[in-house]
Formats: sequence, structure tokens, C-alpha cells
Amino acid sequence: MNYVDAHTHTFSKEKNVLSIVNKYPTSKDFSSPFSIGIHPWFINQDNLEQEILFVEEKLNDKNCLAIGECGLDTLIDVDFRFQKEVFVRQIQLSEKYKKPLIIHCVKAHQEIIEFKKTLRPKQVWVLHGFNKSLQLAESCIKNELILSFGKAIINKNKLAEVFQKLSLKTILLETDNDNVSIFEVYKIASEIKNIEVVKLQKQLEQNFKNIFIK
Ligand SMILES: [Zn+2]
Repeated sequence: MNYVDAHTHTFSKEKNVLSIVNKYPTSKDFSSPFSIGIHPWFINQDNLEQEILFVEEKLNDKNCLAIGECGLDTLIDVDFRFQKEVFVRQIQLSEKYKKPLIIHCVKAHQEIIEFKKTLRPKQVWVLHGFNKSLQLAESCIKNELILSFGKAIINKNKLAEVFQKLSLKTILLETDNDNVSIFEVYKIASEIKNIEVVKLQKQLEQNFKNIFIK
């Protein structure tokens, strides 16, 4: 593996890419590395317990690398207290099954950091699709969150500046749902960092092993 796609919704057939494909409790195919969780957009009181059980069962699967995406989103029409409750349930599963968390966070970074401080989890938390300021990035990193970056580093100069300043040890790269290849994300990331792609590959492979393979 030369490329790690830390969060995506589509499986890559490329031999040199390891993708962590996001799955839901409604997914059927678990034949390649995946993460599974209850996304805040889709939480539903009526089948929550069933879905938690399904996620819990899949956490024992040999292909399961993480729980998620799960998290908090203040821009959606789902009760925020309920979102927090479901997030905490998944944090508990992450600790119980020793799987890192892949977090979806929209305008709720302070809440995520608060949870991190108060619950003091042993498992690594990866904040996917990071797209905010240097100040917020630094505050996340201070609280030992890993930041995963995707297409936005290509399109947004400000985010590229943020990315440029961060240590390679605290980051991952991803394609998410975006129309971009992981090769392109790595290429741009190495240009922003002004390093060889190979050097980036080595560090991110090491990060991947530290976080997901224990
Ligand atoms: Zn996603």
C-alpha cells in the first residue's frame, strides 16, 4: 500500500490504495476494510437500538478498522442533545472494542473537544474533512485529535496554508464523497508541504499503522 484513503464512500480497485470505506447499518458488503457507525444525519429514535447492535456486531469483523463516521452537526434538523447521546454511545463502543473513531463534525468542534477532555478516551479520534482555521486545528491537535484533509486543500488557499503549517504526524488524507482521487490529494498535499510524494506516503502509512493497526 502506498496510499491511504482514511475516509471514503467508494471502494478503490487500485492495488496500491488502502481505503477505509464508510459503511452504515444498512450496508451489505463488508469484504474490504471499513468503518461503521451511525451518522448524525441518519439517526432515528425508532431503530437506534437495532442499529447500535448491528454496529457492535460489525466491530468484531476482521475488516473493521474504525467506528464512524459518527459525530455532531449543528446545521441539521436533528435534536442536538439526541445527537450527543448517540455520539457518546459510539464513543463507548470505540473504547469497548478498541477501535478508533472517525468523526463527522460540522460547527461543533468545541463540543467534540469538550467530550475528549471529559471522557478521556484511550482510542484515537480522527476528525475527518477538516476545513477550518489554524487556531482551531492547533486546539484540536493539542487535544490529541488527528485531522484528516481532503479535496478542500486543493480548492481553498486558506486551508492549504493551515495544512502547510501542521506536523505530518497528526494528519491523514481522504477523498470522502468528493469527486477527486486519492492520488490527486497526495500530489497536492506534497506540493503544499514541499516534499516528495514518497516521503508523504511513508509518514501517512506510519500514521495509519499507529492509529488503525494495533
Ligand atoms: Zn463521509
